Amino acid sequence: MKFSTNAVHAGNEPNLKDGGFGDVIVPIHLSTTFARSKVDKPTAGLEYSRSGNPTRGALEKNLANLEHAKFAYAFSSGLAAITNILLSLKKGDHVISIDDVYGGTRRLFTRVFQDFGLEFTFADFATGKDIEKYIRKNTKMVWVESPTNPLMKIIDIASVSTAAKKYNLLTVVDNTFASPYFQKPLDLGADIVIHSMTKYIGGHSTSVAGAIMINNASLAEKIKFLQNAVGAILSPFDSFMILNGIKTLSLRMEKHQENAFKVIEFLQKNSKVRKIYFPGLPSHKGYDIAKKQMSGFSGMLSFELNTNLKSSVRFLESLKLISVAESLGVVESLIEHPASMTHASVPPEERKKIGLSDGLIRLSVGIEDTEDLIDDLSQALKKI
Ligand SMILES: *Cc1c(COP(=O)(O)O)cnc(C)c1O
Repeated sequence: MKFSTNAVHAGNEPNLKDGGFGDVIVPIHLSTTFARSKVDKPTAGLEYSRSGNPTRGALEKNLANLEHAKFAYAFSSGLAAITNILLSLKKGDHVISIDDVYGGTRRLFTRVFQDFGLEFTFADFATGKDIEKYIRKNTKMVWVESPTNPLMKIIDIASVSTAAKKYNLLTVVDNTFASPYFQKPLDLGADIVIHSMTKYIGGHSTSVAGAIMINNASLAEKIKFLQNAVGAILSPFDSFMILNGIKTLSLRMEKHQENAFKVIEFLQKNSKVRKIYFPGLPSHKGYDIAKKQMSGFSGMLSFELNTNLKSSVRFLESLKLISVAESLGVVESLIEHPASMTHASVPPEERKKIGLSDGLIRLSVGIEDTEDLIDDLSQALKKI
C-alpha cells in the first residue's frame, strides 16, 4: 500500500470479530487498567495504560508505517520524545548537534542534560565529512534537523548517516519540518527519527505530541522501556486526535507546499523583502541536497525584511488573517519573530553566530486560499 492509503488505514482496521463493533475510526480507550481472567495472562497483552493503550497502540502502528519504521512510540510532546532519546545515553557521552537546532531542543540539551553529564557540540555541518572534526572518543550521537528551524538549512542525511556509522554513532533526525510525506530519514540511513507531532503530523493545533520511529529492535526495546519507565506517554484522547489528523496529511502537505510557492512568488516581487529562505528555491544553498532527499518542500519559509526591528514588529502586528503565534505546520497560517519568540532562549551572541538576525520572520503557510494569504501579507507590508 502507498502513503495516503496507509495514512488513512494503518492501525485503523475495523474489528469485525471478537465482539468488535466495526468502528471505522479507532475509539478513545480511556481505561487506565485492564482486567484479566488469568492472573499471569494480560488480556490482549494490556496491563496498564502507561505501558500500553489500544488507542495509542493504533497510532503507533500508523506512525511506524508513515516513516517506513518497524517500531514507533508516541509521547506527550516532541520534547518528551527527545528527552527519552537522550535518556538512552550515559553520563559522559557526547552529542554533535546541528547548530541551528529548534530552540527548545537546544535549551533541553544545554540547560537540563548538560547538568546530568551529557556533553554537546553545536556545529554547522551539511555532510558526513563535516562532522568528522567534531568527533571525540566519547561521541555517541549526531543530532540532525533538516530543514532546520528557522534558517531552512539542509543536511545531507545519507552522507551524515554513513559517516556516523563508520564511527559507531547513532544518527537522529528531527523530521518535524519535512513531515514523513516529503522525507523519510530511515530510508536514507538514519537510526532514529523524531517528530513534534504538534506540527504537520497532527496538523490541527489540537494536541501537543511527539513520536520516535526506529528500525533497530534492540534500540526500540530501550526506547519502549524508557517510554514506560519515564512515563511521558501520549494520552488516549491526543492519540485519537493525531490519528485523525494523519488521515489528511498527504492532502495538507500538497496544499501547504503549493501555497508556499505562491507566497514566495509574491514576496520575491516585494522590495521590502531582502532575502527568502526556502529549500525549494534553486538559489537556496541546500537546494541540490533537498532535491535529492526530499520529495517536496512543505510550507515552512523564512524571510528577512529590509527594515529595522520596530518595522518588523509593525508588519507582524498589522496582519489580520495570519496569526502571530509560535508553532507551525498546522492548517492555519502562523507567523512569528524567532529572535523574540521561538528562539528567545538562544543567547543573542549565539543567534548572531548562526545567522539568526533580528529582522528574520518565519512563516508557516497554512492551507487557506492563496489569494487571501497574499492579500493579508500585502496590506501588512504596506504599513511599513
Ligand atoms: C516544536 C518542535 C519541537 C518540540 O516539540 P513540542 O511538541 O513542542 O514539544 C522539536 N523540534 C522541532 C523542529 C519543532 O518544531
